[in-house]
Amino acid sequence: MSEAGYSIMLLEPLAKHTSFGVGGPADIYAECATLSELKAVLAQCKKDKVPFFIIGGGTNLLVKDGGYRGACIKLAGAFTEMEVIGEIFSCGAGVSLVKALSFAADSGLSGLEKLAGIPGTVGGAVFGNAGTRQGEIKDAVSSISLLTEASEEKELPVSAIEFGYRRSSLEGKGIITGAKFKLVPGVAEEIRAVAAGIIAERNKTQPKGRSAGSVFKNPESKSAGRLIEECGLKGLKVGSAEISMLHANYIINGGMNASDVLELIKKVKSVVLEKTGIALQEEIKIVGEDR
Ligand SMILES: Cc1cc2nc3c(=O)[nH]c(=O)nc-3n(C[C@H](O)[C@H](O)[C@H](O)COP(=O)(O)OP(=O)(O)OC[C@H]3O[C@@H](n4cnc5c(N)ncnc54)[C@H](O)[C@@H]3O)c2cc1C
Repeated sequence: MSEAGYSIMLLEPLAKHTSFGVGGPADIYAECATLSELKAVLAQCKKDKVPFFIIGGGTNLLVKDGGYRGACIKLAGAFTEMEVIGEIFSCGAGVSLVKALSFAADSGLSGLEKLAGIPGTVGGAVFGNAGTRQGEIKDAVSSISLLTEASEEKELPVSAIEFGYRRSSLEGKGIITGAKFKLVPGVAEEIRAVAAGIIAERNKTQPKGRSAGSVFKNPESKSAGRLIEECGLKGLKVGSAEISMLHANYIINGGMNASDVLELIKKVKSVVLEKTGIALQEEIKIVGEDR
């Protein structure tokens, strides 16, 4: 525990904080339970000229084998609180999306259940406009609380944010500390039944194993999974990383090396480009450095 209250770990292995289960250590891993702790960490990073990034659930991240030369910041404590006032659902950015959906349903509020089955945190979901064919998180957002790198607190209405396919204009703007959602009244059992139905459908096509979900964004013309499959790449392996036989946009990692996953990504991009002329782009975020 630091003097400023936040908890600090040095050379914390990031592999255990990501769903891929790979990646070297972060020089500094700071867990912040309050806004003042978060501000203290940012001030320290600024003073020492240490780069930082926020980790949510680590479900859309590939950390390289050499780890991250800087501070990895995790939002905990007050950032995992939730509150409902009328039809407005306020959520800390560190709340898991699964818990948020469950809380909203219990409160008789509908609108988030279409995101059922997406892992990670509310902060990560807003940052990347997480979604499915049923809809995206942007559809329910009313406003976002942000702490800028200069430690300025901002409340942005949804109209001030641009959301696109798996992206938002919040990238590079600071740390999302919370979100407010405008939901509609519903019956808890019915909301839960919709979520259960979506999860049951997902389970049919979602591979088991360590992954970060879809690796590539869908190009405009076609789904990335279909393209990869049509290029005959299902089952392609590099070391312990493999293109899933069930869903070709998933890489399942069975080993300890991010380098296998990175090499497989490179191969897929190269074959798809050569065979179709389409340049796939990663949906996952890649951080850190090679060993
Ligand atoms: C099995 C599986 C299925 C998935 N299915 C889907 C799906 O159907 N749809 C979908 O959209 N995604 C899906 N994903 C991907 C992933 O779950 C989502 O992108 C999720 O929203 C990422 O949230 P996270 O908290 O884990 O973010 P992380 O992976 O921790 O971080 C992702 C990015 O967000 C940034 N970030 C996180 N929190 C904050 C914050 N508070 N402030 C600022 N930046 C922040 C990080 O710095 C990083 O750049 C799936 C992943 C898995 C493993």
